[in-house]
This record gives sequence, C-alpha cells and structure tokens, in this order.
Amino acid sequence: MGRFVAAIQLVAVGALVAGLGIGAGESAIGKEGAKGASGKEVKAIKALLVTGGCCHDYKTQTKILTEGISARVKVNWTVVHEGGTNRNHKVSIYQDAKWAEKYDVVVHNECFGGVKDVKLVERIAAGHKAGVGGVVLHCSAHSYRGAKTDEWRKTVGVSSYRHERHRAVEVKNLKADHPIMKGFGTSWKTPAGELYVIQKLWPGAVPLGSAYGKDTKKDHVCIWTNRYGKGKVFGTTIGHHNETMKTKVYLDMVARGLLWACGKLGKDGEAKAGYGVRRK
Ligand SMILES: [Zn+2]
Repeated sequence: MGRFVAAIQLVAVGALVAGLGIGAGESAIGKEGAKGASGKEVKAIKALLVTGGCCHDYKTQTKILTEGISARVKVNWTVVHEGGTNRNHKVSIYQDAKWAEKYDVVVHNECFGGVKDVKLVERIAAGHKAGVGGVVLHCSAHSYRGAKTDEWRKTVGVSSYRHERHRAVEVKNLKADHPIMKGFGTSWKTPAGELYVIQKLWPGAVPLGSAYGKDTKKDHVCIWTNRYGKGKVFGTTIGHHNETMKTKVYLDMVARGLLWACGKLGKDGEAKAGYGVRRK
C-alpha cells in the first residue's frame, strides 16, 4: 500500500451524459440554455473531484457523480482518484498550498480516516477557507478525523466519528424553502444507508435534512450547508451505496448543492442562466 496510483483525467462536458439513465432530458434543474444573464455564453464551472480511500466503490461513484452532475450542470471535471483502498493515503495534490485555486468548486468523495498529518489537513481546509466552494460527501466527513486539528471539521461543518448499522433511512426535509431542497419532497427513503452519528454542528452550519438513527435513538443532521471563512460548503453524509448515489433525488440534491457552493444556484432552485444543461 506504500505506492499510490495517481489518475488525473479531464472529463469533457456532456461526454459522459449517456449511460446511467440520468440523461439531460430528465434533469430537474437544467432548464436554462447556454446563454448567461448578459446574453453571452457562460464558461463551464471548473470542478475538481477528489476521491479514493477505504470502504467504498469510488470507481463507480466517480462515474455516477461526474455523469449525473454533468447531466444537470454545465461543468468541466478534473478527477483526482488516488490511494486505492488505503485510508492512510495522503492525496498528492494536497501537498501544494495552492491546490484548490484553479477551481470554482471541489467535490470531496474521499475516505482517508487514518491521515493524521495536521499540516496537510490544514492545507486542505485553507483552500476552502480562502473561498473555493466545497461539496462534501459521506466519508469525506469522516476523513482526517484522527488529526489533532479541527480545521477540516470546521470546513465540513459537522463533527462525526462513527456511523450506525447499515439500513435504509427516511430523510426529512428540514428546509423545504431552501433552493437546494427544492424538489426533494417532504421526505425521502434512501434505498440503502449508513447513517453518520453527528456529534457537533459548527456555527456556520445550517441543517437542511435529518434522519432518525435507530441505534442512537435520535435524529442526525445528514444534509446541510456551511460557511467557513470565505468558503461555501454543501455537505451530506448520505451516499455510502452506489444505489443511493445514482437516484434522481440524490443527484438533483448534490447538483444543486454544487451550484449553491459556487454561487450559481437561483433562489428558485434552478441553475442561474447559462449554468444548467439544456433540456432535450
Ligand atoms: Zn460508508
């Protein structure tokens, strides 16, 4: 496990739209065409997906997320998939203090719970604190949890160190008027689940959804927004299973969260002009 594999690939807009039954024609948020509010074509959102590590099928989830979000949002992907199943792997790009600078938003779908390198963790956090949007999915909230710094937890917006037993959960919509939660409905039963136990919400966090945990016998926030420094972060602890991630509800929610995190989501829950994918 000492060796890591760096796989960086550029995924062109729309190149992967077919294939998972989540095509543009089904998009709930992409009604706008290519033109922005000024009448000119807007540049695609520059998104970085950082993925890899323990316990999850990150190869398939990379396909689900990049294809699913590209079917809804005008986005260009850079994917950094490293570390195999090693929870101690340090993602190479995080060695650079400017790792996040070229992107509008970074999607974290990583599971590196064993990394305790405080300087590295604080560099990851600093990228978002400086203003780059973040989307934090599932085990990303458990990553870096042994490091003796709160900077990543402050970035994510929650502190969590363990999860409940595997079972589907009923997610309640706590803020139906929030643009990210438009179209979510009053509640959503996930196909499968691994609910994270939330120990603490940090001051910038706003809960958008919660689910009841049968093991701990209480509700746990599982969808939220957070602000840390200049950065806007959307987070959800839902997402362990591929079957959950590939649902329309999940991809609509994450796509809206991504738009929100980089200031491109309208109050009506639609992408701002030009940033949606044209409905067929
Ligand atoms: Zn998991």
